[in-house]
Amino acid sequence: MSVIDELLRANEAYAAQFTKGSLPLPPGRKVAVVACMDARLDPARALGLEEGDAHVIRNAGGRVVEALRSLAISQALLGTDAVIIVHHTDCGMLTFTDEGIRRQLRQTLAADADHVAFLPFSDMDASIRDDIAVYRSSPLVRKDIPVRGFIYDVRTGRLREVEASRA
Ligand SMILES: [Zn+2]
Repeated sequence: MSVIDELLRANEAYAAQFTKGSLPLPPGRKVAVVACMDARLDPARALGLEEGDAHVIRNAGGRVVEALRSLAISQALLGTDAVIIVHHTDCGMLTFTDEGIRRQLRQTLAADADHVAFLPFSDMDASIRDDIAVYRSSPLVRKDIPVRGFIYDVRTGRLREVEASRA
């Protein structure tokens, strides 16, 4: 059985127990989470979120610049009024450079990725501060709400706050 078939089997079991089919569209707890896609980080479990509670926007590194489109929709159309940014220890974004991945994509896929910023970083706390600065400089998102950035420790499951922004 392929992994996708395994997921479909798991979904059958999930749907058989499902009881949350009448939740409203806007997130009930009015919060948006921007988090790294790392497989060891489960934002729902780590932050005590249930279906219907929050928007969880994930990408490689949990970079805000790649989440701005979703954050704008989350706030303007669906009423979220708090943002938590979660990066984490041992992140894969610490392990490569733009030049390295561009070279690899050129070799394996014959892809020209020279114009793509893959947004690796070398300092986790700096990556949170950079992302809060990106948030604050974007015209698309609200500046009158709490925006807080954390590092999640993959060994302990604990969050450490790096920076908070409240204009
Ligand atoms: Zn990561």
